[in-house]
Amino acid sequence: MDLFEYQARDLFEQYGVPVLAGKIADTPEQAEAAARAIGGTVVVKAQVKIGGRGKAGGVKVASTPEEAKEKASGILGLDIKGHIVKRVMVAEAAEIDKEYYFSVLLDRSNRTFLSLCSVEGGMEIEQLAVERPEALAKVEVSAVTGIDKAKAVEIAKAANFSADLVDQVADVFVKLYEVFRKEDATLVEVNPLVRTKDGRILALDGKVSLDDNAEFRHQREEMERDQLDPLEAKAKAMDLNYVKLDGEVGIIGNGAGLVMSTLDVVAYAGARHGGVKPANFLDIGGGASAEVMAAGLDVILNDPQVKSVFVNVFGGITACDAVANGIVGALNTLGPKATKPLVVRLDGNNVEEGRKILKDFNHPLVTLADTMDDGADQAAKLAN
Ligand code: GDP
Ligand code: MN
Repeated sequence: MDLFEYQARDLFEQYGVPVLAGKIADTPEQAEAAARAIGGTVVVKAQVKIGGRGKAGGVKVASTPEEAKEKASGILGLDIKGHIVKRVMVAEAAEIDKEYYFSVLLDRSNRTFLSLCSVEGGMEIEQLAVERPEALAKVEVSAVTGIDKAKAVEIAKAANFSADLVDQVADVFVKLYEVFRKEDATLVEVNPLVRTKDGRILALDGKVSLDDNAEFRHQREEMERDQLDPLEAKAKAMDLNYVKLDGEVGIIGNGAGLVMSTLDVVAYAGARHGGVKPANFLDIGGGASAEVMAAGLDVILNDPQVKSVFVNVFGGITACDAVANGIVGALNTLGPKATKPLVVRLDGNNVEEGRKILKDFNHPLVTLADTMDDGADQAAKLAN
């Protein structure tokens, strides 16, 4: 889960990372009140989970509360690369002398943590990495020892911070690493980290990504989250791995690999049938019980875009007869709510028993397919 900037700011504050006052506002009037409470010059910043807000007109300086109101009304509702601004943060303004870059992240390919740091901050880091790679220090960080003061000094020196600044920025890096470790983040990025004209080091913009797999270790019930698609929310509540896509053929399979290849064969078959495409990714996992199958079908059949469903299951530990019973149970549970044709392809353990169960069930909406390609073709044809 990616955090909004204001949430990153609040976390930084909890860990003693130097930040400036910031308040969120959903209306121009709230922005005015926030600016009045903060006092002096403020910066009104769009709260959207996308970089480059500054260039897109989502970051504006305001020297009075009235101006903050005016700037907020210009930013609220703005479309920044497809993200509509619903909320702004009104932040105390900084007098910037120099902008830097710092991040610590999970480096999956090298199975370690990595810190990136540069004295040339402000601009987009992807651009810096391409145009001036020598200006971007990359320092491997052990997950065991992390960023202690010595490591932080190593990072600051690798990034070419001047000798008089190394100690000051290193203290901030240590605190940012604490945020990264204790909050189970996969990314903590500060761009820009700044030195102000009066010599303070401040984190002016923060980006934090949290590891969803570690959420059980944290209490974040009150945290603002992105609005999920209603079907995705329903699937999540039932612990299903479901991703909504744009097409017309609903897909249910067991195992992520099988489901992904099913998406491919359906897209391929769809090209022969009016260009229909997969409507979703749904992995019901190993134990395809009647309840799980019913929950999965319920989610997919409720997607108004779905015209047909392709159930593609390989019987392993849960054998095909159990899966077939799951489908029978699901259709009985759903009753008249099941209205769209279902193509079922079963293979693997106890395949004959499984097919027999579905044949005997003789449901008008269910068609059996012998192979994955055949099933994809029939489902695509029905959806067209
Ligand atoms: P981003 O464009 O989405 O990364 O948004 P940032 O929060 O990084 O803001 C973009 C730029 O606005 C920064 O690089 C700064 O140059 C500028 N900026 C942000 N906050 C302040 C501030 O308090 N004072 C001044 N003078 N400039 C700021
Ligand atoms: Mn930034």
